Amino acid sequence: MSVPSSGPAPLPGGAGAGRPAISPASSQELLRAVDARREDAVALLAELVSIDSTNPNFIGVDRPAVIGGETRCNEVLLEHYEQAGLETHWVARDPERRNLVGVRRAAASRDNASGSPSPVAGRSLILNGHIDTVAAVEPDRWLCGSPWKAEVRDGRLFGLGSTDMKGGCTAMWLAAQALSDLDLKLAGELQLHSVVGEETMEHELGTRACVRAGFRADAAIVTEPASLPEPLTISPIAAGNWHFRIEIDGLATHCGNRALAIRPGGAGDTIGVNALEKAVKIVNWLQELEQQWGFSKSHPYFMPGFFTLLPGVFHSDPGVPVPYYFSNRAEIQYSCWYPPGQPAADVAAEIEQFVLAACKLDPWLAARPPRFEWVNNWPPASTPWEHDVVQTLVQAHEAATGRPVPPPSPAHPVAFGAASDASFLEDEGIPSVVYGPGDLRVAHCRDESIDLDEVVLAAKSLALCVLEWCGAAP
Ligand SMILES: [Zn+2]
Repeated sequence: MSVPSSGPAPLPGGAGAGRPAISPASSQELLRAVDARREDAVALLAELVSIDSTNPNFIGVDRPAVIGGETRCNEVLLEHYEQAGLETHWVARDPERRNLVGVRRAAASRDNASGSPSPVAGRSLILNGHIDTVAAVEPDRWLCGSPWKAEVRDGRLFGLGSTDMKGGCTAMWLAAQALSDLDLKLAGELQLHSVVGEETMEHELGTRACVRAGFRADAAIVTEPASLPEPLTISPIAAGNWHFRIEIDGLATHCGNRALAIRPGGAGDTIGVNALEKAVKIVNWLQELEQQWGFSKSHPYFMPGFFTLLPGVFHSDPGVPVPYYFSNRAEIQYSCWYPPGQPAADVAAEIEQFVLAACKLDPWLAARPPRFEWVNNWPPASTPWEHDVVQTLVQAHEAATGRPVPPPSPAHPVAFGAASDASFLEDEGIPSVVYGPGDLRVAHCRDESIDLDEVVLAAKSLALCVLEWCGAAP
């Protein structure tokens, strides 16, 4: 676990790393080059949003109806990558779901005396974005008539995936295009990864597949919508997420036996036990644990009380959807955020032990404890705030926005409020930070939208960061 820096941020890279410093003039030129491509960027984003690239493995999605959408988006991006002078590569563990990698090679330099290639002086960087989306929420009720009808209203582009995260994918291209328009040569390699399968944690098909195909770098920026506490928050850290299921047994009986089952003088549990009400007890107990976590779990990069337990699915019925029987089975599914640095297994054990201890208060549950299934763990992400790539991005963001970035603290939390592929890039040994346009509060919602100014602003920071991190070739 990292701690916030107390002093001024160390100056990263640049001339200190043996490369020519980026002149303020070329920075200003780069910002203007991004602005000059604004309309192209809006057109690209609209085209990407108009293609249905719903993740084919998303729960409830008809795979044959949507398969190929991710690849079609990447085919559109391929044309744009090539226009930006990037070398393009397909990476496809699943031929129906192709990742696109664009590479801007480090400028070749030859040693003057020997004529042999000299070592590359710059550092390499990946810009990573996912091209899949979640399934559309209430597709018949979208403001613009359809989730895939991209429409600009009041400076915002509406449509599924606009915020999460075709806006980020567009900003990545816009940054690369601006560098190309100025014919700026980089001392280190820049890679753009447009990946599939993020929304269902299919990192083996998407982000990891690209890295394992050899597209590695010294650091990565994942351009997800890091929007809290303010737009374009630099987020080098994210919580882990456990998805778990609890199953509770009851004993079915006719509703006419209700009094016998619950009133003094009746036969109690031998007549019937309503699993639904036992499950409600468990929800209440886990709300108690969640309250305790508000005090027991904290991290200086997160807002106070971030680590929570959400009961997102609750199901109980007696086998038919009518209320005339006691339910003999209930199921609750949770999504739980836990702090980086805490082993996932410890968090799971803590939750299980808390519930099982509380169950001792209830004779039925004490005798028939609920069953836990630990469905899926999305690991946390954590790169230190002091890391060069984070500090380079801080400087780039300050230069692009004209606003200082305060050091992280509970008052200025910098944690990304969702899961992302940064976790898997870090697991591959690539320090990563989340930074991109969009607003998490409108992601996975009806009428998802993005502020177009933010897409352009993100591209400016990204372009400056690439130039500073990779270095300008002499
Ligand atoms: Zn996303």
